Amino acid sequence: MYAVRIYEPGGPEALSYEEVDTPEPGAGMVRIKVRAAGVNHREIWQRQGLFGAFAQPQILGSDAAGEVDRLGVGVGGLEEGQRVVINPGLSCGLCSACLAGDQPACARFGLVSGAYAEYMVVPERNVVAMPSGLTFVEAASLGIPFVTAEAAFAAADVRPGQVVVLWGASGGLGMAALQLAKVRGARVVSVTRSAPKQEVLKKFRSDEVLVWDGSSALAPDVQRLTAGRGADVVMDSLGETTFNDSLAMCRRGGVVISVGATTGGKVALELGEIFRRRLTVIGAFLGSSSILPRILPLFARGQLMPVIDHVYPLEQADQAHEQLERGDVVGKVVLEV
Ligand SMILES: [Zn+2]
Repeated sequence: MYAVRIYEPGGPEALSYEEVDTPEPGAGMVRIKVRAAGVNHREIWQRQGLFGAFAQPQILGSDAAGEVDRLGVGVGGLEEGQRVVINPGLSCGLCSACLAGDQPACARFGLVSGAYAEYMVVPERNVVAMPSGLTFVEAASLGIPFVTAEAAFAAADVRPGQVVVLWGASGGLGMAALQLAKVRGARVVSVTRSAPKQEVLKKFRSDEVLVWDGSSALAPDVQRLTAGRGADVVMDSLGETTFNDSLAMCRRGGVVISVGATTGGKVALELGEIFRRRLTVIGAFLGSSSILPRILPLFARGQLMPVIDHVYPLEQADQAHEQLERGDVVGKVVLEV
């Protein structure tokens, strides 16, 4: 088969489209004929070496949709040719966290990989039936962003009428978060770096849109929009540049969800800002395995929509990474196999 592999951390050019052995499914595993793979920031960080060097060549990619191609020994309940989506979380399945359905708390929690390829092998429990009405490209765009945003809002207990601020609202995670916050009945304040993106954010029912210049504090704007009260919940995927502003724009007792650090992860904090104002900081990294099967029907009912910015053929994974790194996206970048 053909796959995109990486040998050493580096720029987009480190991604190499080449012929490799087709993986065989072991016991309890399923081989998927990948039809589309979603591109996530996490893969850029992996490519850059943020999680370390590679002991052997790696095939990146955790979000995929395709068809069941071959079943390993002992796999039941799936048929060859069935259209499926990959649930990206991996965990031991045996510990108290896993048994309680809180897989991200498992000591062995991680993500499947190998989606940038014609075939990938995953555990049977990571395979979810694909709802009708979605294309492979759309289905491959959902996993990490929608599961992450839904898990984060559940942890923050977002309720109807609460004010939710979303940094990076027009990105893949942002567009998922915007829609899920509206499903929860929240009032959403979206932040974008790009004035032309205001229209699409309003089309997706963002109540307010703030256009950010990349440096100035937005807490005064949020205070103004909330009659001086502040936001109930702020989702911050940018990190270094914005985190203190996120704390400042929260109401007393508000919640900041840290869900990424695309501008860097080193932040100097005034702790008094947190304890005196009784703020809560929540870390979000994917979510439990029950979330994807639970939210997929909302796409069939039209309550949620995949938002695809651009589709690249698998061999142009380097260009897909370049576009995502530029931040020049509305929604998701997807590879088609
Ligand atoms: Zn576990």
